[in-house]
Amino acid sequence: MKVPVYLDYNATTPTDPRVVERMLPYFTDHFGNPSSSAHPYGWTAAEAVKQAREQIAEALGAQATEITFTSGSTEAINMAIKGIAEAYAEKGRHVITVQNEHKAVLDACGALERQGWTVTRLPVDADGVVSPDAVAEALTDETVLVAVMWANNETGVLQPMEAIAEIVRPRGALLLTDATQAVGKVPVSVEHVDLLVCSGHKCYGPKGVGALYMRRRAPRVHCYPLLDGGGQERGLRGGTLNVPGIVGLGAAMAIAVDEQPSEAARLQALRNRMEEALLAALPDLHIVGRGADRLPNTSSMTFRGAKNLNLMMGMRDLAVSPGSACSSGSGAGSHVLLASGLTPADAQASLRFSLGRFTTAEEIDFTIERVIAAAQGAGLALRDAEPAS
Ligand code: PLP
Repeated sequence: MKVPVYLDYNATTPTDPRVVERMLPYFTDHFGNPSSSAHPYGWTAAEAVKQAREQIAEALGAQATEITFTSGSTEAINMAIKGIAEAYAEKGRHVITVQNEHKAVLDACGALERQGWTVTRLPVDADGVVSPDAVAEALTDETVLVAVMWANNETGVLQPMEAIAEIVRPRGALLLTDATQAVGKVPVSVEHVDLLVCSGHKCYGPKGVGALYMRRRAPRVHCYPLLDGGGQERGLRGGTLNVPGIVGLGAAMAIAVDEQPSEAARLQALRNRMEEALLAALPDLHIVGRGADRLPNTSSMTFRGAKNLNLMMGMRDLAVSPGSACSSGSGAGSHVLLASGLTPADAQASLRFSLGRFTTAEEIDFTIERVIAAAQGAGLALRDAEPAS
């Protein structure tokens, strides 16, 4: 067992060795530029990009022509939100999103707000779920785009995408989903959405590559590029393509989707065992979103009465994440947890455990033992502790 035990797979995943193997030739032998249409170096690279695009389309139930490669989800989200806003500004200047979205979505919407757009940020319930009725109430004839994430990166809670799509799409607004955390963990398809975003490094592919799905039919989505130049990606994203990265993304998504059912069952069993053991031992432990549909690998734990940074000091041989990693810098704690109604103290008492492809039962046993010891060290009660004499 390797220590620290890695339980931060929602932050990033190691690149699967099978993926690395597929990528390697494209750094050396097949280094051509896919835009070099005059010779075989270019053709080989272009063929690899074509195959990867097909793999990604297949993984998402899309057409290859609907996939645009980007440097990751942040870029794809920015491209979707800003590019759609530019293309549809005549329709209206209103977007809807949700308070517990990733900062990439919230900040891109904030950029529109600075240009005079109206942004509605919908509240969520205690599990972090947005109500489709709230989406319906917020929609106006001016609404261009609704952005709702498929799965939350901190709590793993899934949004009711299908119900939201049934409300949004008949009203003529476009529906964007950030599926960065969902791909490979739960079944994901573009069936009900107009735009979808995913990233290589969250599903055992390389960092620095991602994709944007944009519907081409019923309706055909129009979007302006974020990066102009070179005409690559049908003019949607200028810049020489990252061929090894794209090959890696294609291979990673194909594997992740193929193995998703068995991996989900395995990880859910490990995650549940960890949660049950810790809940049994620690009366002050609360798990955010436990009652909702969640990713099988994620557990957002609130150790009421402790500070997450102190707890982490007591569990240095575990690599976990304080829920506040992406917080606003206000010191108040994670915006995701605050949106679910946690107090600032509880938000700062929270840690995210995210399991993944290389997590073992042995690691989970070790984790249970270490977390209980750290909680005890931070002054939390144990359920069966002897009364102090
Ligand atoms: N969206 C979600 C839900 C994420 O978890 C992340 C990664 O932290 C991103 C977007 C950004 O992804 P990337 O690192 O590919 O830019």
